[in-house]
Amino acid sequence: MTTVGILGGGQLARMMALSGAPLGLRFRVLDNVADACAGQFAPMVVGDYTDGAALAEFASQVDVATFDFENVPAESARWLVERVPVFPTPRALAVAQDRLAEKTLFRELGIPVPEFADIPSREALDAAVGRLGTPCILKTRRLGYDGKGQFRIKSPTDVDAAWAALGPQAASVGLILEGFVHFERELSVVAVRGRDGEFRAWPLTENWHVDGVLSASLAPAAVDAALQASALSHARKLAEALDYVGVFALELFCRDGVLLANELAPRVHNSGHWTIEGSETSQFQNHLRAVLGLPLGDTRMIGLACMLNWIGAMPDAGPVLREAGGHWHDYGKSPREGRKVGHATLRADSPVELADALARVGAALGREAQVAPVVAALR
Ligand code: AMP
Repeated sequence: MTTVGILGGGQLARMMALSGAPLGLRFRVLDNVADACAGQFAPMVVGDYTDGAALAEFASQVDVATFDFENVPAESARWLVERVPVFPTPRALAVAQDRLAEKTLFRELGIPVPEFADIPSREALDAAVGRLGTPCILKTRRLGYDGKGQFRIKSPTDVDAAWAALGPQAASVGLILEGFVHFERELSVVAVRGRDGEFRAWPLTENWHVDGVLSASLAPAAVDAALQASALSHARKLAEALDYVGVFALELFCRDGVLLANELAPRVHNSGHWTIEGSETSQFQNHLRAVLGLPLGDTRMIGLACMLNWIGAMPDAGPVLREAGGHWHDYGKSPREGRKVGHATLRADSPVELADALARVGAALGREAQVAPVVAALR
């Protein structure tokens, strides 16, 4: 009997545990919140990621450890690695935790990135805004996600407000300034690398965000073979450079037909949720296979799929459940503003069928605005 330990007990851990059940796996989840939603399916150790006693209890109960959350302190990951195999490795985690380190690595590997500058001080910010121009975005280097820890500088008069908002964090989490990318679309590539170096990726996914949070994903993205090949090459280079094991997502902007790398997520990713029903092997199962050294599953798609995120509160399930290709995922969380509480995936065999199903669901749920860009991309 193999027990997989997961640091972080949110919906990603929950879906991982669900996908690992057919493999006969057991799970243990470490989270500091006693009612973390993965706890409904996997026994929990409740404690902070820095709590030595909780980490020791967790380590004694698992054969291998992984993450549903990338901001686990590097020190805790290193402590754990002395006791159990940990994938992805603390080094990969450390790079992905720091926007400056990851963008520097992208650049070293020849992966195009938006203009960026390290911002240790107010003087550095003034100089970088002068060099990069406006608009630009000031972000925390560490601990930011879903658009949090970001300030958009629309004109030089915003620099004071940006520094007032994020300057106090310059010493603790660090800051980075990025040139604003006027992208045509946002894409992501979700990929997996096994312990033996085998690499596979799902087709490129197109993503739409609202207020910095993912709203909808469509796979496959309508891109030409050259763009698909370029995304795969970037993902493979990155995985090999980090000796990565497990699933990761590379978030990309597409501008003038060129891909610019925004961010590496060292874990299963929201833009890969459609793989549960839309692919031969889901990202969750392939992550487990990779971490356990099992053969990786085929990443080919079954038709087309669109994922819609439910933020704040779950809508009525009826309109999705009535669709032939409708799949419902309620994470069992209590409603809260801005919280990811569930998602739906609509799967179909043709773009027309998928667009029609999305239009019906959007109208029935009063979510026309959420489905509109996806329907437009399909028609
Ligand atoms: P992030 O947390 O870096 O993934 O940012 C969240 C979202 O903000 C992205 O998905 C984009 O929609 C937007 N964003 C972030 N960085 C940039 C940038 N440099 N230029 C334009 N939009 C950005």
